[in-house]
Amino acid sequence: MPVDEVRRNVMASLALAVLLGSNAVKALRTRHLWTLTCYECQACQPVCPRGLDPARFVVAARTNNPDLPSQVDGTHDVPVREAARLCVRCGLCEQACPLRLPIMSAIDDLKNDGRFV
Ligand code: SF4
Ligand code: SF4
Repeated sequence: MPVDEVRRNVMASLALAVLLGSNAVKALRTRHLWTLTCYECQACQPVCPRGLDPARFVVAARTNNPDLPSQVDGTHDVPVREAARLCVRCGLCEQACPLRLPIMSAIDDLKNDGRFV
């Protein structure tokens, strides 16, 4: 493998390690370390009967950011802490997730007090 390609791969690996590390620190401040395993496939998105984007709750929990904007009905953005109130806990997003991630546990936190901790 050429030296330039090795250098590029090393730099990309370091950048990924830093990104994962900073997300892990944020996720550790909540009880949602599982969010690090979401690979944002979006399989959970089309099944929501309320037009929510369940993966946004996962990203918000991973970054400990209840104010992260999320689309509702694909039209307007609201903070995830407000979008959570529209969730009816049907569980369809968790059933659609290939990893069976506990998405509703992040939503429940927001419903309770608008935070992830
Ligand atoms: S549990 Fe909530 S976010 Fe998940 S599909 Fe049902 S209404 Fe949508
Ligand atoms: S289906 Fe699961 S892995 Fe895919 S984006 Fe949704 S929560 Fe993440």
